[in-house]
Amino acid sequence: MHPIQMVDLKRQYHKIKTEVDEAVLNVIESTAFINGKPVQEFANNLSNYLGVKHVIPCANGTDALQIAMMALDLKPGDEVITPSFTFIATTEVIALLRLTPVFVEVDPKTFCMDPAALEKAITPRTKAVVPVHLYGHAAPLDEIMAIAKKHDLIVIEDNAQAIGGDYYSKNGIASPPVAVRKKTGTIGHIGTTSFFPSKNLGAYGDGGAIFTDDDQLADKMKMVANHGQRKRYYYEMVGCNSRLDTMQAAVLNIKLKHLDEYIKARQAVADFYDNAFANNSKITTPFRATYCSHVFHQYTLLLEGVDRNGLNAFLAEHKIPSMIYYPVPGHQQKMFAHYETAKVSLKITDWLTERVISLPIHTEMDTEQLEFITTKVLEYINR
Ligand SMILES: *Cc1c(COP(=O)(O)O)cnc(C)c1O
Repeated sequence: MHPIQMVDLKRQYHKIKTEVDEAVLNVIESTAFINGKPVQEFANNLSNYLGVKHVIPCANGTDALQIAMMALDLKPGDEVITPSFTFIATTEVIALLRLTPVFVEVDPKTFCMDPAALEKAITPRTKAVVPVHLYGHAAPLDEIMAIAKKHDLIVIEDNAQAIGGDYYSKNGIASPPVAVRKKTGTIGHIGTTSFFPSKNLGAYGDGGAIFTDDDQLADKMKMVANHGQRKRYYYEMVGCNSRLDTMQAAVLNIKLKHLDEYIKARQAVADFYDNAFANNSKITTPFRATYCSHVFHQYTLLLEGVDRNGLNAFLAEHKIPSMIYYPVPGHQQKMFAHYETAKVSLKITDWLTERVISLPIHTEMDTEQLEFITTKVLEYINR
């Protein structure tokens, strides 16, 4: 049996090695390391794939969020509402920009922002909302967009874990509403993503991108990412330096062509797990709402009455990795201890952080591995 890993980038690489090696060597030969041709090509390819007007490549997914927020002309103390149950980048950049992160509850089924909690958290200082499509499942964007519209808020979708996902939007399309298929990350005013190697569309190093249909926002975000300049050496505002490396863009151009097939492979793994764990009273398998396609960046179980650390250790004994995403929610982190807004009780979030466990999922998993993993998980759970 092939060794089991959370992600197997090597076997995936070997399937596209000839093409990738050639593309990377071409970049070296061209010596156009910064903003070489593949960068704009990738921006165009991704914009076609997503059906969004502007794609602004940048250095990583954290920068993408930061650039998006820097383009909004927010003032220190303005509030940005976001789930606490997410990767730290989402909430960290809010604080970094001297804005106030307001942590809200997630839906226990989708693990994504609860629209009712969002609406309750809105104050006159609220300026933006950052829903996160956690583990590859979309947040309920129709509801979130409707609330944002009512309160004049900007929505930034953190799409780092759900690139390629479909969302069936019913907003304002027709009466009665007809669902229209859109890509996650293109429904909010701005969408951001990460090309961290283990993400669904992973580079061979760091990378990120921002999406929007809004010309003015796109112009501003390009300026922010480029030292605050439109014209070289004329700086209009304090920006940052955040670029997608040409070599990474060359790799991403190749991998983007495989994204749909990669997503299908992940969904097949999820189906296998779902079947194996069906009807087990101690395990809840991932929920899949009808409004979206789950792209399974993670396959995360909810355990009830199971010693999670025991399971993690038992699996490790059998060389099966498993991970806790995330053991401590944002509002409980020391970095936010001085924020009044972190002193909230988020019972569902706390409950989830104590019960989730993620199993290996990637594009190269085979039936032998999946049978072994599911057998071992059930062996521990049912003993
Ligand atoms: C990975 C990730 C990010 C940050 O991406 P980097 O490229 O690592 O900076 C942001 N938000 C979420 C939800 C992520 O999973």
